Amino acid sequence: MDFEFTPAQQAFRTRLRAWMERTVEEVFGSAEDALGPSPESLLFTRDDGRWAQALEYHRRLLAAGYLALHWPTEWGGGGAGPVEQLIYQDEALRLGLPLFGANNFAIDRIGPTLMRFGSDEQKRRFLTPMLTGEEIWCQGYSEPNAGSDLAAIQTRAVLDGDEFVINGQKTWTSLAHRARWQAMLARTDPTAARHKGVTYLLVDLASPGVTIRPLRQMTGESGFNEIFYDNVRAPRANAVGAVNDGWRVAMAMMGYQRASAGSRHPVERGIAELAELARRVEFGGMLAARHPYVRQTLAQFAIEARCLRLGRYRSLTGYLKGRPPGPEGSFAKLSSSELNLRVAMFAAEMLGGLATLTEGSPGALERGRWAHRILEAREFTIAGGTSEIQRNIIGERVLMLPKS
Ligand SMILES: Cc1cc2nc3c(=O)[nH]c(=O)nc-3n(C[C@H](O)[C@H](O)[C@H](O)COP(=O)(O)OP(=O)(O)OC[C@H]3O[C@@H](n4cnc5c(N)ncnc54)[C@H](O)[C@@H]3O)c2cc1C
Repeated sequence: MDFEFTPAQQAFRTRLRAWMERTVEEVFGSAEDALGPSPESLLFTRDDGRWAQALEYHRRLLAAGYLALHWPTEWGGGGAGPVEQLIYQDEALRLGLPLFGANNFAIDRIGPTLMRFGSDEQKRRFLTPMLTGEEIWCQGYSEPNAGSDLAAIQTRAVLDGDEFVINGQKTWTSLAHRARWQAMLARTDPTAARHKGVTYLLVDLASPGVTIRPLRQMTGESGFNEIFYDNVRAPRANAVGAVNDGWRVAMAMMGYQRASAGSRHPVERGIAELAELARRVEFGGMLAARHPYVRQTLAQFAIEARCLRLGRYRSLTGYLKGRPPGPEGSFAKLSSSELNLRVAMFAAEMLGGLATLTEGSPGALERGRWAHRILEAREFTIAGGTSEIQRNIIGERVLMLPKS
């Protein structure tokens, strides 16, 4: 059974779809693959021309009132209900567009975290430039020895009068090369229990002592970075929540991150594109689209993708009851990133040698987007908490299974 939308909601979808199709063409051009292989490849690009397109799309979203639909109007957001937010996700996914314009981390999770835990001054100072895209943000949680085990962070922030002095290193920081600000976790009391002596800080990346270096991924892109802090100063007023109480703030932000993680990959679109491609390539000595194994696999993927969409609709119940996102977001994150990976691996199997041809190679299919997706897909099963960690969360905090 499908979800029934009211006539007003259907009208919203029709308007939004027309706006998106027109705007995508105006900003990115009309070619099928104008947006590139994935929303992430657009957002985290080092190509200044593509980044300018991402910013232009961001400004258009804002002007049309579609950016930050989940933010309250008081802070310049759309103040939309959950159903409109869901329709927006559907339509953005349909075209393979990033959900939050160019300022992904700010709009998705850092802004909502500030609204919940930040001081009035922090809200006044930071929320508007997040929306306009004038200040891009990144998220500094992971360190070389603290990823899944985030409480192992060692970056230190020591109070010196009205300022923190920060020393240490973050790694895998997506978008830091474009960001002016970072929401980061630092250890402020090394004598306290691991989860206790941590503070959530807002750090100006233009400060003296910050060094940002690109990290290269196997796609050839460098969407993320490592950041070194050498006596970097940040005002005490940039702590969000109380000093040494940052774990609570950090976990709340992870809740927002996981809630949207399930709607970030345009998996249904990818499956449809692969089905389309199957009409043009051979597999097992016949047209791939006629091969029973290909047909069966694509049908199975389509069923699972549909279930994922219905799962998103189902999570509306929680939103409608006003519950902030909790650990159940791990279901969506786990299933969508794993399905995305399986689709990519199947593309490799179906395309054989053609799957290895990257953009610019003679004979590359669709400007090498499948080669790119095959290399990229595994990232999403790691970023934002690995699949193993999502399974642990589901087991321990959703299903309440005993810890081993
Ligand atoms: C594309 C991408 C973008 C990213 N962007 C950011 C960013 O912007 N900001 C940021 O802070 N971080 C970012 N990250 C980092 C990401 O959050 C970490 O990579 C992730 O949390 C895993 O940590 P780790 O890499 O240290 O791996 P580890 O924690 O060392 O894990 C290694 C392996 O051990 C497994 N493992 C670890 N602990 C357990 C356990 N308890 N039970 C079962 N298995 C376990 C893991 O699942 C994994 O397979 C990004 C990562 C990627 C891939």
